[in-house]
Amino acid sequence: MANLIKCPTCGKQISSNAISCPNCGEVINSKMSKPAGAINMKDPVHFVGVVISILVILGVIVACVGTCTNSL
Ligand SMILES: [Zn+2]
Repeated sequence: MANLIKCPTCGKQISSNAISCPNCGEVINSKMSKPAGAINMKDPVHFVGVVISILVILGVIVACVGTCTNSL
């Protein structure tokens, strides 16, 4: 199922599965790797944010329990 697309550089019709244009060498599928890289870059940041949020909540709970225990 290879669709024909137009090369943005030379205008020649090439397969959409082609990594680069066989006529002029223009890289066709380079934009497909950019979104994946952006998502991979965001995931660790999002994960760290969630972990920090959980640690802050746990810290507040532990501090509250410790205060209550000391006051008794
Ligand atoms: Zn081309």
